[in-house]
Amino acid sequence: MTVTDQADTTRRELDEQAAAVVARLRRTFEERVTRPLAWRRAQLEGLDRLLVEGEEELLDALRQDLGKPRIEGWSTDVAYTRSEVRLLHRNLERWTAPERVRLPLLSLPGSGRIVREPLGVALIIGPWNYPVQLVLAPLAGALAAGCTAVVKPSEVAPATSAALARLVPRYLDERAVAVVEGGVPETTALLRQRWDTIFYTGNSNVGRVVARAAAEHLTPVTLELGGKSPVIVDRSARIDVAARRIAWGKLLNAGQTCVAPDHVLVHESVHDELVDRLADAIRSMYGDDPSRSPDYARIVSDRHFRRVVGLIDGAGPSGRRPTVALGGERDPEDRYVAPTILTDVADDAPCMAEEIFGPVLPVIPVRDVDEAIERVNRGPKPLALYAFAEDRAVLDRVVDRTSSGGVCLNHVVFHLTAPSLPFGGVGESGMGAYHGRASIDAFSHRRSVMTKPTRVDPPVAYAPFTALKQKVLRAVMSRM
Ligand code: NAD
Repeated sequence: MTVTDQADTTRRELDEQAAAVVARLRRTFEERVTRPLAWRRAQLEGLDRLLVEGEEELLDALRQDLGKPRIEGWSTDVAYTRSEVRLLHRNLERWTAPERVRLPLLSLPGSGRIVREPLGVALIIGPWNYPVQLVLAPLAGALAAGCTAVVKPSEVAPATSAALARLVPRYLDERAVAVVEGGVPETTALLRQRWDTIFYTGNSNVGRVVARAAAEHLTPVTLELGGKSPVIVDRSARIDVAARRIAWGKLLNAGQTCVAPDHVLVHESVHDELVDRLADAIRSMYGDDPSRSPDYARIVSDRHFRRVVGLIDGAGPSGRRPTVALGGERDPEDRYVAPTILTDVADDAPCMAEEIFGPVLPVIPVRDVDEAIERVNRGPKPLALYAFAEDRAVLDRVVDRTSSGGVCLNHVVFHLTAPSLPFGGVGESGMGAYHGRASIDAFSHRRSVMTKPTRVDPPVAYAPFTALKQKVLRAVMSRM
């Protein structure tokens, strides 16, 4: 058998396996197993139990994959997901109930409502950085909406992927939920199937691959992507508070957070003060040697380690390397990269060319907030945008003159902790949103239903368009 034959056979086998899973889940959906609220409630209860009883197993896996400190893994992956599951459970009836709507005069007599109908069989593809939260939170939305779902965790976090593959079938209805493990070939085979919706979290390049595959069947997609999320620091900002908050959000999960502050655009008059305060904040959080801190995570893989180190050491076409104002130490054995602040960063530096996704923070001076806004608008629309200022007009100007998935003013990352604020990107940073009620909407079709009474049926409604009828219609429609 040639290498090509072998590849064809593997591809055929993967396609057959993927097709079999989809067919099983589609049968379940068509048999209406997932429709009753009692079933959905039971699945959310199962997810909740999985997160409670499987907590140790998941935290161990997160430690193996990302060196995630226990408390960080617990709060950002396990407890966070649990709160989302419980919120959906609590509000299930209200958030899935038909919505009555008012009808305009022309549509009367009659009544109108919007019915949330589950989209059907969902594919959820997750990344490695919060590998529990970013597959189980969308799954909670899918189940609450009444969908069946295949979950494909990231192969880059293999221990967590394996833990999810063990735990999910123990707690959830196997007729409706399946975990498929694997990398690009397995995901590609899944993407060749027909889905009713695809929910993808990861980088924008693969986002395009997913969108292209979805286009084949006109499948709706939610794309939760990334990008360079800037922080603007105005001269009116409280620099000590800004520094602590930026350092905290940047170094969570060693910078491997989709909404981590990517770089700082700071008013030139407070640049040096901010750099000093950032260094103080980092030392107070992780000590003089963060490699010994139990609270500091590691880079997920050797490939990502090399990439992050390249962003510190590399120079662009101008040949200018940034100055390492703090950190820069690394240990390939341990995949440790110290919290690092870069200054004197050239526009063509590698760290400004791509999302950093590591514990490296370029700090760039700007003349004023308009220059910062102009720099933000020069790049693709970010997933998050942050601004620190005591001057309210500056904050308003930043929100008004830019676009991003979300904004958090005078803090970072926190906007995604409020389930009443839909979370998602715009442009290059994604499409669609979830969290709280938006999670149910992401997996539902909002179907319009109008009901007309038959008691009232004046024949004039069907009469030809006389001048008088046109006049009446014009009068009615101009009031709508
Ligand atoms: P990743 O490498 O784990 O990839 C994500 C998923 O895509 C995986 O399940 C992987 O198997 C699959 N995949 C990879 N290459 C593929 C291909 N060629 N074809 C089909 N499937 C493929 O994760 P990543 O992309 O490195 O994740 C990091 C990125 O995700 C960052 O850009 C980050 O900002 C973004 N992110 C966004 C959010 C959000 O909520 N918006 C959350 C976390 C991460």
